[in-house]
Amino acid sequence: MKKHYIQLKFSLFTLIAIIILSPITIQASNTEDEISTDIMFPSTAVIIDVGHGGIDGGASYENILEKDINLAVAKKLYAILQSNGIPTILNRTDDYALSEDNQWLKTSSRHLKDLSQRMGLTREIEHVVFISLHVNAGANARAHGPLVLHQHTGESALLATNIQASMNNLFDTSKNVVPVKTFYLLKHVKSPAVLVELGFISNATDRERLITRNEQTKIASAIANGVLHYLWIN
Ligand SMILES: [Zn+2]
Repeated sequence: MKKHYIQLKFSLFTLIAIIILSPITIQASNTEDEISTDIMFPSTAVIIDVGHGGIDGGASYENILEKDINLAVAKKLYAILQSNGIPTILNRTDDYALSEDNQWLKTSSRHLKDLSQRMGLTREIEHVVFISLHVNAGANARAHGPLVLHQHTGESALLATNIQASMNNLFDTSKNVVPVKTFYLLKHVKSPAVLVELGFISNATDRERLITRNEQTKIASAIANGVLHYLWIN
């Protein structure tokens, strides 16, 4: 029973997410007061994985939490991609832990439940690329700048390189993308997948940028430019 409830809860969440987050074509019929129920769901192009949430705040500096920065930038990125005609899904639209919705992995580890929930969604929803948003933190307060990590595939490297170039331009940095094997999500997601570290919460300049609305929009635009460029050349 519990399993069915979880399944239903997830299905509802998925459906609600699709209805809220995807452009829906409602074909109006000839008569004004009759609207056809013929609703078309376009296939998703981009899944934005919003890092952390709920009791999992991610990296922090005083009362500034990574989970909030990830969500703020994710919403802006979502809006920019959608306005460019790219069907996009956010896997978290508010402050909650995805581990609570988990149905794929029976484990007592909240962290593993969270990760498998994020991965499970990539299997449920058709998509072209997967972008995970995170914020970096370091012991050295001078460490700064955005960094894009990617799966060990040519397509992922290409997507990462496009995003990194655009982010380097904004931050005036010259970082190179980093291939990773050990990150659970990047290892298991089937589509081209990247993890974007938006900047360092431990660096004063980056932090100011990360919590300022206008700057968050610029960061989201930079990521979107990279994604759009990748999609156009593919
Ligand atoms: Zn993180």
